Amino acid sequence: KPPVLEIKNLNVDYGLGEKAVQAVRDVTLTLRKGEVLGLAGESGSGKSTLAYGVTRLLPPPGVISGGSVIYHPPNGEPYDVMSLSDSDLRKFRWAETSIVFQGAMNSLNPVHKVSTQLLDVLKAHQPHTTPAAREARARELLKLVGISADRMEAYPHQLSGGMRQRVMIGMALALEPQVVIMDEPTTALDVVMQRQILAQLVELRERLDFSVLFITHDLSLLVEFSDRIAIMYGGRIVEEARAADLYRDSLHPYSEGLLKSFPALRGPKKELAGIPGSPPDLRGMPSGCSFHPRCPHAFDRCSAEIPLLGNPTVRPDATRSVACWLHDTNLTPVA
Ligand code: ATP
Ligand code: SF4
Ligand code: MG
Repeated sequence: KPPVLEIKNLNVDYGLGEKAVQAVRDVTLTLRKGEVLGLAGESGSGKSTLAYGVTRLLPPPGVISGGSVIYHPPNGEPYDVMSLSDSDLRKFRWAETSIVFQGAMNSLNPVHKVSTQLLDVLKAHQPHTTPAAREARARELLKLVGISADRMEAYPHQLSGGMRQRVMIGMALALEPQVVIMDEPTTALDVVMQRQILAQLVELRERLDFSVLFITHDLSLLVEFSDRIAIMYGGRIVEEARAADLYRDSLHPYSEGLLKSFPALRGPKKELAGIPGSPPDLRGMPSGCSFHPRCPHAFDRCSAEIPLLGNPTVRPDATRSVACWLHDTNLTPVA
């Protein structure tokens, strides 16, 4: 499948100079046409920062300190999102790559009806359309995300969290973007709700053919619904593979730990094993592989040199990449 969004060697810092916190480091990741790519990692690993960086929505003091994000429009030449002007960027965000934020369900304006907010988006970006056409489109979008016409005139507080989340998805789809980035809230929505939302997004993807970058803590959800999964740790992607491959046979010790942290997909619930230790402090990152203080397989090289993401050379497989000295990946870095 052809690429739609190619993140290349992206670096994001919070702050400048000596005190800068390196929240995203050297991330290279490709989202392909029509696929669901899942991004998982513990809290603070840089998932949201990566999503904001890609769409250039970083709150201050966030800055992109390196890398590029190449977008492939349906018709026309690929371009670097990092070099778009502010006005082109606004268009890009709704019409090409839209994002549903981590706190999205609470970002609806409480004083306006759901229908008004959806119509506002349509009006701002498609001023040439008639009010009747926008009205019809708004109804169609809400229907698409499973909200019946009678709920259109509701205010946000009259809807459940799940419904508000659906409204946000409807808005994100309003201008038929090629890419939807969804940063899932972890505390606000329960697992059952997250599951329904992701299932719905996958179904819509099949009908409308957009690509999804889905961010969540819940790896079991990704195993079930995504095509590929990328695992983030300490600001870096440490493994990327097809969902089934990752589930069956993860290569990175951190992925393995994460998979063990979740109950089995089928069968009786297991005790959560978890990963001993805590995520690294970005202000004092461990040397070499930042996972080495927690890694059960760490050896001398691990604290001395940073393993880069690459195809494993110990067990070559072009469909997956990992950043771990056990697999000697630096010999074949990801293109
Ligand atoms: P979660 O799963 O909790 O949403 P995350 O993987 O999305 O976590 P980010 O929110 O991207 O993680 O944060 C990555 C790192 O950047 C964290 O260590 C966080 O403390 C730091 N960070 C985030 N926002 C800021 C900010 N505005 N200023 C300074 N540091 C920040
Ligand atoms: Fe563990 Fe070393 Fe691999 Fe890091 S590089 S995950 S410390 S074995
Ligand atoms: Mg986040």
